[in-house]
Amino acid sequence: MAVPLTGPETKQLIREFSAYIQQQRDSFFPESLALSPRHKEPLEGFFSSSLLEKVRIVQLQGNRIPLPVISLRDRISQYVELPDIAHMNSFTFWDVLVFQDPITERRLFHGLVHAVQLARLGLETYLELYIRAFLKTGKYLTVPLEVQAFRMDARFSEASADRFKVEEEVELWLQRGLYQMGAPTPETYRPVR
Ligand SMILES: [Zn+2]
Repeated sequence: MAVPLTGPETKQLIREFSAYIQQQRDSFFPESLALSPRHKEPLEGFFSSSLLEKVRIVQLQGNRIPLPVISLRDRISQYVELPDIAHMNSFTFWDVLVFQDPITERRLFHGLVHAVQLARLGLETYLELYIRAFLKTGKYLTVPLEVQAFRMDARFSEASADRFKVEEEVELWLQRGLYQMGAPTPETYRPVR
């Protein structure tokens, strides 16, 4: 179901998420670690080495990610359920990936796809695309930025020897306008090999 927020309400939601992501990124950064060689090895070829050097990870031990303050939470909840951050495996706070569940190769891959999208689009554009798409259907699994990340982590886990370049595919989706909700064919889209 679509969530009929006004333009200014949508902007406010984007601003609140932007502040949330920056705050969480800064608060988790001091305890974050670089990827170890063991983490990096299966990911090489899919991601640039500069991204793998730059990204940091945090493994929470029982504690959870603080939830964002959303002033329109009650209004949005009249229409749809908000994605439940408390039950997500991980959350990508820009270049800091925070895991609430044990880090697996596939979860790490998924978080890194979001890190690539964020690095390419910038936080504001990323959130515009993410939140506007979410408000159209009320389902975060249909947000194109998520569709791409889930599709890629599935491809990676099915055939991790078949190395595709995540940065190139993000560029391609951007050029073809596939991050806009309602863009023609994310479901049938096949990447150029
Ligand atoms: Zn995701």
